[in-house]
Amino acid sequence: MSERIQAPRGTYDVLPEQAAARAALEERAREVLEAAGYERVETPIFEHTELFARGVGESTDIVQKEMYTFEDGGGRSLTLRPEGTASVCRAYVEHGMHKLAQPVKLWYLGPYFRYERAQAGRFRQFWQIGAEAIGSEDPAVDAEAILLLTTLLGDLGARGVHVRVSSLGKLESRQHYRVALQGHLRTHEDRLSQEVRDRIELNPLRAFDADHPGTQEVMRTAPLLRDFLDPDDAEHFNAVCALLDAGDVVYDVDPTLVRGLDYYQRTVFEIHSSELGAQSALGGGGRYDGLVEQVGGPATPGMGWAAGIERILMAAATPAHAAPPVDLLVAAPVGPVQFRLVADARRAGLQAQLDLAARSHKGVLKHANRLGARYVAWVDSDGRQAQLRDMEAGEQAAVAVDEVVRDVLRGPGL
Ligand code: AMP
Repeated sequence: MSERIQAPRGTYDVLPEQAAARAALEERAREVLEAAGYERVETPIFEHTELFARGVGESTDIVQKEMYTFEDGGGRSLTLRPEGTASVCRAYVEHGMHKLAQPVKLWYLGPYFRYERAQAGRFRQFWQIGAEAIGSEDPAVDAEAILLLTTLLGDLGARGVHVRVSSLGKLESRQHYRVALQGHLRTHEDRLSQEVRDRIELNPLRAFDADHPGTQEVMRTAPLLRDFLDPDDAEHFNAVCALLDAGDVVYDVDPTLVRGLDYYQRTVFEIHSSELGAQSALGGGGRYDGLVEQVGGPATPGMGWAAGIERILMAAATPAHAAPPVDLLVAAPVGPVQFRLVADARRAGLQAQLDLAARSHKGVLKHANRLGARYVAWVDSDGRQAQLRDMEAGEQAAVAVDEVVRDVLRGPGL
């Protein structure tokens, strides 16, 4: 026997017993988002590397160390998508969606790839559901996006949910803030972790995320971005909060909230679950008013979020796996008559299966019980008659093969 090959680290198989919960999540997401006018979009799994370098930002962890980048046969640099927003903005520009009624509201669901340290709740291939509203800077877009994600999480039974919101202001105010923050970090440089020290120039905001005790101590007295917001941004943020209140969203304003992506401006938010361990973020997002322009489109505002499917399922009480009911099990041997019988049964809307393991009479009954099958049929050797057994009643009768489907549809009793 050859050596066993296992799935790569940080990936997982979705087994049949887990598939139902994922399908239910997708179904609920469709209902919640499409009721609010979001339409499904699907973008390629790989894109030009340049899209993420520009869109997500050169200074981010994602671009610096987490992308699966490869050269294709034609020598182009391609990257497995690490997130969805940049791709959706690219599609918006590429398909001239700015000509449609604004904002264009899109949602998506699919696999994403990041070369991260694999651990509980953190994978290298994971699934995200996301929603983007491109083309409006109305604070109602922000509040509605947050409301939709909290609604979805609530509907799915996610437990211990905590919503944090903040405003990063526009790039210009963030620039002033950055300078002030860098000054603060430099003053206390000797107490910072090496990693934070190395990033004072490139990405000082990430210092808020550090779990290093010395750094955390320094960050307690750091200047806060909300004190640097210009009046427009402050007003925008207040309007978002007022709408969240009107929508009964429970949240905290957290001025230390930073997101791992460069493109955010103004509103940002993150949702965590206390039911999860270290990787507790269920989802997050924010406003990215410069991003469409950055990927080559006209200046266009945008707002969106993404949430991790695996973590949502972990935070939700998993519903019992319910296999679809089997109406009819047709016993072996499988010849043309048996084959046609199940095909006819399915055409009539029944769930029908063949015994594909040539089970004995007793074996078929056992298998039918395991499947919860309502009826079992044995076709006689003449191919015209069948023995049809009502499993629940324990009754069996001889019927014409042509009548089996009608009898099962009519059930119970023979
Ligand atoms: P982000 O855009 O990085 O904030 O990701 C949005 C959401 O996707 C997070 O809140 C997580 O729920 C999920 N997520 C991100 N990275 C991973 C990962 N490596 N494994 C599992 N879920 C992830």
